[in-house]
Amino acid sequence: MAPVGTLLATLAALLLAVASFPADVLTNRACASKFPIASPVERGRASFNDFFRCFRPGNVIASFLDGLVDAHPQLLRKVSVASTVQNATVAGYRLSLSESTDRPAIYVQSGLHAREWSAISSTIFALTTLLDDANAGSMAPAAFDWVFVPLVNVDGYEVSWTTNRLQRKNAAGVDLNRNYPSPYVNPSPAATFDEDYAGPAPWSEPETRGIKNFVEDRAFAGFVDVHSYGGSILLPYGDTATPHKDAAQYALLGRDMKEAMAHVNGSYSVQFSWELYVAYGGFQEYVARAFDKPSITIEMRGDDFIVPAATIVQRGRELHRGLVQFAKEIQRFGDNHDHNFTTAGRAKLN
Ligand SMILES: [Zn+2]
Repeated sequence: MAPVGTLLATLAALLLAVASFPADVLTNRACASKFPIASPVERGRASFNDFFRCFRPGNVIASFLDGLVDAHPQLLRKVSVASTVQNATVAGYRLSLSESTDRPAIYVQSGLHAREWSAISSTIFALTTLLDDANAGSMAPAAFDWVFVPLVNVDGYEVSWTTNRLQRKNAAGVDLNRNYPSPYVNPSPAATFDEDYAGPAPWSEPETRGIKNFVEDRAFAGFVDVHSYGGSILLPYGDTATPHKDAAQYALLGRDMKEAMAHVNGSYSVQFSWELYVAYGGFQEYVARAFDKPSITIEMRGDDFIVPAATIVQRGRELHRGLVQFAKEIQRFGDNHDHNFTTAGRAKLN
């Protein structure tokens, strides 16, 4: 029999583990009762809404985004992108200055990984900032529409608010950012219980299949997949060290985005994804190969998945600046420029 002291210590550790998990959820629920969302959304001031005072659960995110559409029917339209394992809808929002539906658009998604709340809030903030700009007639650059899909892993996000704050995978236990095809064979595939389990086959999940059909049906000019944390701009490829044919242009794009984000005090590093860690089945690699368009990943700044709600607006501004630079840059993607490019290694599942 274990001594009573050891049992007590074990019990204390268990209680601490249980008590520490929902702290972030409780904090943000308390925040929500202090800062209810201003509704209806005030036209032209969407990015000033109290929505951004707290991290918000999935149903609140959905109603805020729908409220944006209601307040800006000429600028923002809701589109259905995919279904989830539990039959929820993955919603997209198309921001357009023109009635025409065949303008090229930039695709921005977040929340493949449920626990990355900061990535999701940043994407919604960037969307509302562009929407406010568009409402004022000054969305820059004007050449592109935007399609935002702020919350892909709807089911997993619900889990992160209820039973496991650090939920990463979808409801079937699959890492949605490992479920895309790769021409390379993973020499050591993750087991089903691993956080980066790729699923039984590429496209096995309704979320990834839905996104595949959605992006194949439309001519997107570029792709940005937003994650957290660590503060990096990541460039293809992640599944091979063989350079992308446009590696030099990608390096320039990364450098200019880093500079732009630094203008709003965001400190980001730039590297090719494989330098962070080699991973197979990522969204970034799939779209880069399938469409031959600029495709990058941004890891929002921070040193944890759990961050204070007071960081939401600052991170959002950083992403907004990065996206605007991305849009400017991809118009001249293909030019040749000299560049300085530094790298740093890190191994973490973001
Ligand atoms: Zn991630």
